[in-house]
Amino acid sequence: MNTSEFIKKYATHPNYKAPTGTKINAKSWQTEAPLRMLLNNLDAEVAENPQELVVYGGTGQAARNVESVQKIIANLLELDENHSLLVQSGKPVGIVRSHPQAPRVLIANSNLVPQWATWDHFNKLKENGLMMYGQMTAGSWIYIGSQGILQGTYETFVACGQKYFKGDLRGKLLVSGGLGGMGGAQPLAATMAGATFLGVDVDPTRIQKRLDTKYIDKMTYSYKEARDWALAAKKQGQAISIGLVADIGDTLKNLLTDNIVPDILTDQTSAHDPINGYVPNGLTLDAAIELRSKTPKDYQSRSLKSMARHVGFMLEMQNRGSRTFDYGNNLREFARQGGEARAFDFPGFVPEYIRLLFCEGKGPFRWAALSGDPKDIYTTDQALIEAFPENKHMINWLQEAQKKVAFQGLPCRICWLGMGEREKAGLIFNELVKSGKVKAPLVIGRDHLDCGSVASPNRETEGMRDGTDAVSDWPLLNLMSNASGGATWISFHHGGGVGIGFSQHAGMVVLADGSDRAEECLKRVLFNDPALGIMRHADAGYEKALAMGEKFGVKI
Ligand code: NAD
Repeated sequence: MNTSEFIKKYATHPNYKAPTGTKINAKSWQTEAPLRMLLNNLDAEVAENPQELVVYGGTGQAARNVESVQKIIANLLELDENHSLLVQSGKPVGIVRSHPQAPRVLIANSNLVPQWATWDHFNKLKENGLMMYGQMTAGSWIYIGSQGILQGTYETFVACGQKYFKGDLRGKLLVSGGLGGMGGAQPLAATMAGATFLGVDVDPTRIQKRLDTKYIDKMTYSYKEARDWALAAKKQGQAISIGLVADIGDTLKNLLTDNIVPDILTDQTSAHDPINGYVPNGLTLDAAIELRSKTPKDYQSRSLKSMARHVGFMLEMQNRGSRTFDYGNNLREFARQGGEARAFDFPGFVPEYIRLLFCEGKGPFRWAALSGDPKDIYTTDQALIEAFPENKHMINWLQEAQKKVAFQGLPCRICWLGMGEREKAGLIFNELVKSGKVKAPLVIGRDHLDCGSVASPNRETEGMRDGTDAVSDWPLLNLMSNASGGATWISFHHGGGVGIGFSQHAGMVVLADGSDRAEECLKRVLFNDPALGIMRHADAGYEKALAMGEKFGVKI
């Protein structure tokens, strides 16, 4: 099949689909893998809005424009193992000489010199077609649908239950805003953890998508109906999830008026982007879309004021007893800008629940079956269950995920693994490919929200013990280590999760194709990558990280 036939079959905009099966289109699996994962990111089953090339997280794109998608495809179909493709903010800009153990694709997305790193400047460049917002896994081609955040969300809710509710979320009401690409994982994570869930989104199509993929149980446009369902389920200790089409600020106001205090309160609206993400209070969705394009400044000011109001209600809920936390969307920062001076009076989720896991090199490890066959994922699940019999928590997760997670696009799995475990899992996967127990290679990657790959002072690095929250040498060291180790594609992004100006972070994906070359790369990359997390946290003075470093021979 030549390039234009390939594009016609798999990439006629906006209908994208990754090829499946064992026959490759590119020159090797090293380039077939990023090709399939790029197309998978844009698949309508996976992406929130393929028409705009938006994968998730507000405007997080996989490529700059349709022309760029087609050129990336053409490049990947031609690329051999002695060259690497350079992608600059979603546009392929050149090919450099490299070698078979080097990354095949080198990606830099949304990076700006610090003084210019504002949404205003970024949006001007974007309007002129010069940049794209890559979020985290959108522009680095390892987004795997809502499952990608499902386990992390589940771990967070369980950790909250352990910290504040004696490990039992039955009969507890969890309320949150935003049911988009990432936020859509909340209802399923909450019910898996035993809670009753009420989620609020202004856009009914987003809630419908969660219903279609079985992430949420019920949907309504009526506050009263949602409230009554939620109260009845809470009373009976039923783990049910309800999606309400409304503005989250209005809903919190109604709950306060009715004196209904959620046990846990958080938010995953696209607050990180006050123009193209958050929808201001008092506007219909259509009116918001119109205002956004006509007078973005006016939109932004209404958005910031709405976030201040929204956070004001969250603070009042916290006063009345809700365990309230920021869930990584920078809502507190923009509420502060909108006039809520006490916005940072509730904590972020990383210092509250996740930091100790980061000290163990743990984070959102994930993999996808390039064959397209779900059985390959079940084979990997089983191999992990056999390899880690002591890890009951992981086994429970894998068994629950098999029952409850509907695959989107290429079958994949996420599972938080730490230092030592990632390398072991990667080598097992390579053996599964080599022995033919899975039909085609697997790609192994992770979110940029990981232990050693991100600097984000309002999120992953909030409140570091030594005050190094804003030091972004660490994600750069992570990037360079993964380039040196031989990841298959790597990326360095700015602004993911919390918006332009607020974070820098690195991504990596490494291929397990059953070859000796892959084995060597896996041993290096899956050691170095979590080791950077151990080093970063040990350097900041966390004893747990120092102890883990000693245990696993990480030289510090
Ligand atoms: P998304 O853009 O796909 O979804 C956001 C949703 O918020 C949309 O459905 C939108 O309709 C809704 N929304 C906007 N304003 C609203 C309002 N006033 N009331 C009710 N609903 C409103 O984004 P996503 O991928 O779900 O990500 C959500 C946020 O979480 C982003 O800011 C993202 O950067 C952040 N994030 C968090 C994590 C984490 O681990 N906690 C990880 C990645 C991203």
